[in-house]
Amino acid sequence: MSGTGHKSASIDVAARISVTLRRLGLPGLPRNYELVYEAYSGSNADLQQAFQALGDTVTQAQMDALGRRFLVHHHGEGIVADAQARIQSNIEECLALLRNGQSRLEDYGRVLDKASGDIARTDALKVDIIRNFIEVLTTATDTSLSDSRGTIKAMVARSGEIERVRTELDDYRRMAHTDVLTQLSNRRAFDDMLAHVYDDPKNALYFALVIADIDHFKRINDSFGHPVGDRVIKLIGMLFRAALRKDVFIARTGGEEFAFILAGTTAEETLRIADRIRTSVEATPFVNQRTGANYGPITLSLGVCMASDADNAEDLYRKADAALYGSKNRGRNRVTMHGAGVEGALSDARAMYRKESA
Ligand code: GH3
Ligand code: MG
Ligand code: MG
Repeated sequence: MSGTGHKSASIDVAARISVTLRRLGLPGLPRNYELVYEAYSGSNADLQQAFQALGDTVTQAQMDALGRRFLVHHHGEGIVADAQARIQSNIEECLALLRNGQSRLEDYGRVLDKASGDIARTDALKVDIIRNFIEVLTTATDTSLSDSRGTIKAMVARSGEIERVRTELDDYRRMAHTDVLTQLSNRRAFDDMLAHVYDDPKNALYFALVIADIDHFKRINDSFGHPVGDRVIKLIGMLFRAALRKDVFIARTGGEEFAFILAGTTAEETLRIADRIRTSVEATPFVNQRTGANYGPITLSLGVCMASDADNAEDLYRKADAALYGSKNRGRNRVTMHGAGVEGALSDARAMYRKESA
């Protein structure tokens, strides 16, 4: 987390992680690398604390338990398989309880049946015999009632367990769609969301995709180190959230790449929003309060494509990406809309925002 200039910062980080894994006696699995990296980057304080609490010797099982808690995407299959197994075993137990309950009710029915037959054949004056019947019936009824109560209690416990599995799966789904560093949506969530843009052809007319890539980000990593790069990414994620309406879908789709899905928007409005995204970063000073180190100026290049200008999700992404590269080629820190310029005359709606770097 030093702000001092350091070349080849990422190689340095990888080497440090590898030494740490060796010291802890852990294999150099990619998921171990990622956990140690996340634990050291300081971007997730809870993970950092949990990792430190493990001490000097750590088992793979402990690492995997941390992974399940903090980096669920690596353990998704295990979590789903575990949930399936738990739900199945609970359902089987419920069925067994019901079967058992049924057979006990049948026993009770047989006792009643026999009692009613016996009582019909008995002389009503034989009080002792009748009293005996009543005792048998009372006991059978009590047993049956307490059996039923036991069954209900056990069923409630089983359904509580199923409810817990459901909550865990919901948590898992949320975490599996969240980017750990920025807490924005991640690539998987973005892919899911984009796939639905064309579900209703009418809606697709008013959707837009904006993608953004930080300009010259390698310089930040190279000059100040990877952890500073991470903090910059995290802060930029917060700037986006603050600059945009809640209903704008924002994802971190790659290292220093972000995507925005806008609904119910026109081309003009989309360009305005894209430019607001651009300005939110350009206008922010990136200064370390403690050391005074200045990491800025930091800028973004953006590409925009209206859903109505593309045939499907893949095409939409490809066109927005090509527009983004248009922004890079023309000097960065600007917004380019797919089709603008390429098709000649620029209408208002298709205007290409140019912001010459100062
Ligand atoms: P350009 O203006 O052309 O986009 O230049 P650039 O330096 O940003 O180039 P490019 O997009 O190709 O490289 C992005 C760099 O961002 C490469 C990689 O080392 C770094 N990076 C990717 N993901 C992360 C991350 O999660 N954290 C940090 N700190 N750096 C990352
Ligand atoms: Mg990039
Ligand atoms: Mg970049």
